[in-house]
Amino acid sequence: SSATSPLVAFGQKHVTKGLGRLTEAVMTKGEGSYVSFEDGRRMLDFSCGIGVVNLGHCHPKVSKAAADQCMNLVHSQCSIAFHGPYLHLIERLLPVMPHPSLDSFFFWSSGSEAIEASLKMARTITGRQNIISMQGGYHGRTFGAMAVTKSKTVYSEGFAPLMPGVFSTPFPYWHQYGVPPATNEDELVQKSLYQLELVLKQQTAPSDTAAILIEPVIGEGGYVPAPAAYLKGLREICDQHGILLIIDEVQTGYGRTGKFFNIEYSGVRPDILVIAKGLANGLPLSGVISRQELTDKLKPGSMGGTYAGNAVSCAAAVAVADVFKEEKVLDNVQARSQELFDSLTSLQQSADVSSAIVDVRGQGLMVAVEFASPLYSANDPALNPSVPKNMASRVAKRCMEKGLLILTTSIYEVIRFIPPLNISQADLAKGCGIFADAVREVLR
Ligand code: PMP
Repeated sequence: SSATSPLVAFGQKHVTKGLGRLTEAVMTKGEGSYVSFEDGRRMLDFSCGIGVVNLGHCHPKVSKAAADQCMNLVHSQCSIAFHGPYLHLIERLLPVMPHPSLDSFFFWSSGSEAIEASLKMARTITGRQNIISMQGGYHGRTFGAMAVTKSKTVYSEGFAPLMPGVFSTPFPYWHQYGVPPATNEDELVQKSLYQLELVLKQQTAPSDTAAILIEPVIGEGGYVPAPAAYLKGLREICDQHGILLIIDEVQTGYGRTGKFFNIEYSGVRPDILVIAKGLANGLPLSGVISRQELTDKLKPGSMGGTYAGNAVSCAAAVAVADVFKEEKVLDNVQARSQELFDSLTSLQQSADVSSAIVDVRGQGLMVAVEFASPLYSANDPALNPSVPKNMASRVAKRCMEKGLLILTTSIYEVIRFIPPLNISQADLAKGCGIFADAVREVLR
């Protein structure tokens, strides 16, 4: 549409081609649920920097806490000494842990680094080598995290050899079995647990298997919540064989799905919990949490990293925890989630779109709309073949033209809704309206 600005042209020349980009623009400011661009555009943000600025952009209390910490102590290095915000953050997190056994913390910077640490811990604690992850799972871009990632080949294509000793099993998502979404959930759980049993009988013996790794709502694989019965089944299999259960709540954690941690919905106990993204509302911070009985087995000095648990990030995270309480953020997630589901299901039920939308799903404010896609509708003529190709990215593009920043996910035709957890009723309704108009315009 508009001519490329000199700054965008500069970026296109000098920023690596290895990065993909949703839009050729320069973001200049974030305020609550809105972002602004150099070209004057202002958009309602349903992406939150991929589920990070969950309290909105530049929440004043979080930004002030970070700024104050900047004037006091920016960096101390976790292998030199404790620092205050690190310990105060643990004080805030202990009471909201999804299981009381989770009492031993290690902070890192990114989700990938925390995943790496969790894999290293699982290997050394169990004395076993192999890891089982989910087909459709996403855990990051470092070598270990990339090896356990099974959501898109673009993340690993050409980068092999990856970390060895990784096996995968299908996540309980109907696409894994090539059937439509109406599939019976109990059957999906049974089939998926059976596939895992086969992996443990045919590919990696339980005595060689250190851990099973799962996102309780698969994120980059399509925003599909794992049924509680599946997670309970995993816990049983792990208990039976002495395998550790690593729960990756990098995207689902910290209020995103309506509870502090998604795993609370099933009541399943993680052996290792991995968190990041929303933890410090945009400052880099991740965490690996386990129980002392396990982490006491780690040799001092075997874990660490220059920026791990940075003081400014931890100070911001302490403020995030306080804002969650003061502003009753989880209550807002529940209320807005209901409105979001109401809006999307009524869109799905309206005659002019119904056959295009095959699934509305999610928990809290981690919600997806899936459009019919040739990947499986070819097997089922009852599903509408007249939906345009690349429906999800067309809708996302149309939304942006109308002032709503929204993302797709997975190899399927899925749009994901990850608005700020403290979004107002009016802004949520506005975004839903733009989305509905965009879907109709693309179908027209
Ligand atoms: N795990 C999950 C579930 C994620 O969604 C992501 C990031 N999208 C990661 C791990 C990796 O985190 P990071 O990008 O901070 O390395």
